[in-house]
Amino acid sequence: MTQTADRSTDSLRIRMMGTVLTGDDAGYDDARSVFNGAVDRRPAIIARCANSTDVAHALRFAREHGLEVSVRGGAHNFAGIAVAVDGMMIDLSPMRRVTVDPDARVAVVGGGATLADLDAATQEHGLAVTGGTVSHTGVGGLTLGGGFGWLTPMLGLTSDNLVAADLVTADSRQLRVTADEHPELFWAIRGGGGNFGVVTSFEFRLHPVGPLVDFGLFFWEDDRLAEALRLLRDIVATLPRTTGALIAPMNAPPAVFIPEAHHLTPGVAFLLAGFAGRAEHAKLLEPVRAALPPLFEFVTPMPYTALQQALDESAPWGINVYEKALWLDELSDGAIDVVRTHLPKRTSPMSFVPTFALYGAYGDLGDETAFGATRKERFAFNVAAITPDPRVLAAERAWARAFWQDMLPHAAGTGNYVNFLAEADDARVRSSFGPKYARLARVKAAYDPDNVFHLNPNIKPAT
Ligand SMILES: Cc1cc2nc3c(=O)[nH]c(=O)nc-3n(C[C@H](O)[C@H](O)[C@H](O)COP(=O)(O)OP(=O)(O)OC[C@H]3O[C@@H](n4cnc5c(N)ncnc54)[C@H](O)[C@@H]3O)c2cc1C
Repeated sequence: MTQTADRSTDSLRIRMMGTVLTGDDAGYDDARSVFNGAVDRRPAIIARCANSTDVAHALRFAREHGLEVSVRGGAHNFAGIAVAVDGMMIDLSPMRRVTVDPDARVAVVGGGATLADLDAATQEHGLAVTGGTVSHTGVGGLTLGGGFGWLTPMLGLTSDNLVAADLVTADSRQLRVTADEHPELFWAIRGGGGNFGVVTSFEFRLHPVGPLVDFGLFFWEDDRLAEALRLLRDIVATLPRTTGALIAPMNAPPAVFIPEAHHLTPGVAFLLAGFAGRAEHAKLLEPVRAALPPLFEFVTPMPYTALQQALDESAPWGINVYEKALWLDELSDGAIDVVRTHLPKRTSPMSFVPTFALYGAYGDLGDETAFGATRKERFAFNVAAITPDPRVLAAERAWARAFWQDMLPHAAGTGNYVNFLAEADDARVRSSFGPKYARLARVKAAYDPDNVFHLNPNIKPAT
């Protein structure tokens, strides 16, 4: 797409309720910043949209001026694709309102809301929908790519719970999208990413959760890493739907609830979130403790909103990150060997390997949505290079790549979770969507034939 020299924004400013920022405006640098501190991209125009009509105006302006378009939800994409270099960034962050109808058990969520916004509003009524594990992540990108977290074994993906969306197309049409209105588009936005339009509002089905849930953390030091991982794969296979689980080879964080002597000790953490009450939670923890006594543990009830923020410190806003991920059908002995070999080679004590266990309600849907991966039980394996020091990032990036490369032979194919694609080249996007790619390409051709929305794991319009 050509970028024209005409950057006169007055005609846009007078149409929009929200603000329009260019390089000279106060607030421009804050508005262009994203979660990943290693990203420094400068858009020509930031359209801070207050509503769907603003989005329609901004898209029309971008089209008329030949500007490349990006969409910013929560700005958590690892590569910073929310920011179009020299282009138009459609910034949805002013649209964070969440409205809950507790009787209908439905939440209407602004396209720029964060998971923290969503959880705060729904928990006022003792309700929730599946979110991710870091609360400043955007609902927008997370939902459009699928979305998994503590509640996935009980409630499925975030996108499985989507019942409607308001969407602005590339040619500025404002559509209501449901199972009955634009059904193919409704299918595509549940897993197909931000390829089809700007979603200004999501409507989710809600479920009773909390307000208190049961948290459990076990930690084993490096010497027992392989033994612990072998135990955890067996334990995970027995977990009920009412428990979410995350395995995380990492350094013990310097948190107040961890004995000081163990701060930064390398090893593996096993985190559990129980939604069926204290007694069931205790019953699940006992065999873990008995089979391999941990170096330390932390077991406590906590508010659901606190559970949703429990990992925020592991990836604070503005930190330097890089990540490589893949699917594992199982934690085989070979895969465990790779973890044992590569984990000690990291330079940054913050780098870790969050491995999300997906089971239970994860498998309840299949072809009903565009989510590209198979729905059989599996792990989303993620090598996360994280450092506050930008000088260390190159070494950490090399570490993550080497680790990932050696894990590939144990992976379930070459596809990936599209929300974990830091480098979304065409071949990997196609393998991530597998047989669903062709149908997605037809939907793309119907709603975005010129591929205006291409700063994402991009689906090319079918010809
Ligand atoms: C620290 C961290 C933790 C994470 N944890 C999890 C997790 O537990 N579970 C999980 O499933 N994922 C997780 N993710 C991945 C996360 O789902 C993706 O990074 C996702 O893209 C973030 O969405 P966002 O709106 O914040 O991102 P943005 O960078 O704002 O957007 C990314 C892309 O999504 C699209 N997009 C966003 N909002 C909209 C919208 N309203 N309309 C149309 N397109 C839109 C655009 O194409 C945009 O380029 C995590 C990421 C990070 C960095």
